[in-house]
Amino acid sequence: MTISLSDKPYAPKIVVVGAGLAGLTAAYRLQEKGHDVHVYEARQRPGGRVLTVQIGESLEELGGKNFNDSHSPENSLKLISDLRLDILQKEKPFSPIYATGSSLESFLDIFKRFQETETLWTTLEKFAASSQNLQQVIDSVFKDPDLHFILSSTLRGYEGSDPLRLDPSTIDTLYELFTRFLEIAQNLDENPFPTFQWMTLKGGNAQLPLTLANRLINKVHYEEVLTAVQRNPQNMTLIFNHYHEVKADIILLAIPCSIMEAIDFRDETIPAEQLIRMKSLQYGTNGKILVSSEFPLNKYSFVIHPDTVNWFNDEGQIITFYYGGNAGIFEKKQATFLLDRDLRNLKTVYPTLQVSIDEIHSSQDRQLVSYDRSVFKSWALDPYAKGSYSNRGVGTATWLSEITLRGEKIRKAFRPVQDKLFFAGEHTTLDTLGTLEGAVESGERMARLIHKTLNM
Ligand SMILES: Cc1cc2nc3c(=O)[nH]c(=O)nc-3n(C[C@H](O)[C@H](O)[C@H](O)COP(=O)(O)OP(=O)(O)OC[C@H]3O[C@@H](n4cnc5c(N)ncnc54)[C@H](O)[C@@H]3O)c2cc1C
Repeated sequence: MTISLSDKPYAPKIVVVGAGLAGLTAAYRLQEKGHDVHVYEARQRPGGRVLTVQIGESLEELGGKNFNDSHSPENSLKLISDLRLDILQKEKPFSPIYATGSSLESFLDIFKRFQETETLWTTLEKFAASSQNLQQVIDSVFKDPDLHFILSSTLRGYEGSDPLRLDPSTIDTLYELFTRFLEIAQNLDENPFPTFQWMTLKGGNAQLPLTLANRLINKVHYEEVLTAVQRNPQNMTLIFNHYHEVKADIILLAIPCSIMEAIDFRDETIPAEQLIRMKSLQYGTNGKILVSSEFPLNKYSFVIHPDTVNWFNDEGQIITFYYGGNAGIFEKKQATFLLDRDLRNLKTVYPTLQVSIDEIHSSQDRQLVSYDRSVFKSWALDPYAKGSYSNRGVGTATWLSEITLRGEKIRKAFRPVQDKLFFAGEHTTLDTLGTLEGAVESGERMARLIHKTLNM
């Protein structure tokens, strides 16, 4: 017999940990379905790795920016539309350049030298099968030094970790990047000004978590850092900082795996092997420095260096995106050094570039703070992120495979424990790992699964 929620003697209490996009989406959808849901968040603000700042005259993102980074951001579009938020869709010129410090080369000119071979995918698969990591595949297949450099750096930026640390199964991303760039390069005669689409929110991406948190009024509890989870005969206890205890019938953990080391999962609340898998998920080390420049520089959409990519927004702000290894791990001193180095590099591309900054500011952990000329954020050093976003580290392919539960697909490492403990977050998505859409998609799916579970 199926018992509907309203027939049950009391409403099960659902606790969501983490007020990032994944946790808030799940909580909002569960609330819509009539569940008793509360969100507990370590920070004093919602949004997690979505962090909008005002710099000079414009709004910019220190975290997730482009909703179009996933294959198809359909869950985000639906949520944004349900919340009546406005999308800013911008068509940007696609004209990347790669700057080594001494020479400049157009990305697309380099790609023009190549032809896609029909056997490329098969070749990549063959080398992936015998390689330890993605770099070995790149080394074996792409012998041209320019192409080798571009693909290695682009992947490092895209995934946040060096290809040496990426699983060979990441050949799908490599193939996609290569074929996309090649197609644009080969069509330059017909389409000399290629573009790409950038999708953000009017008022900054912070509008999405802020609106979700508003809809969950009095249900989001801030400055609550989860430190332990304990299993009881009937339910579970969550222990937050200051020994604050909360009982829950269902828990949805929507925090990055990089944080799990700091949480005590008592009585095998998560089976030991599953917990080891989760804790070993790899995170990138991307960070950003945003600087106000004197004028918009839009000749090249991206200027790519080995550990950095620069681009410019419509108001002339320079956005520097650091990736890979130590390039994303910086405090004020290193940020000042990196910025100085990059501005010198950028001057080889734009000799008349004028930038004056007295001091580089470390970002505050609040949404929509205004900074005068510059701000930086290293996500690897953020205590509640400890990394930028997840990627497929070496050896992860098998346990990221999918299983089906109650009609919903789930990645094996993130299967629910005893129908009481569920997992959401960009790292659990069936869409593209490490994306805004990934976070929203996982939140939507877990809300459906929890609802089905409670209605069994
Ligand atoms: C520099 C950078 C650039 C990016 N660019 C893009 C992009 O252009 N396009 C794109 O699609 N994606 C991008 N992303 C990725 C995107 O921002 C993330 O995938 C997404 O925001 C993750 O959402 P989430 O809810 O899974 O996790 P989070 O946003 O990290 O949410 C988890 C929440 O859990 C909280 N938490 C952590 N530990 C605890 C604890 N112990 N107790 C309680 N709460 C806790 C955190 O404070 C946080 O609020 C970028 C990310 C970074 C860092």
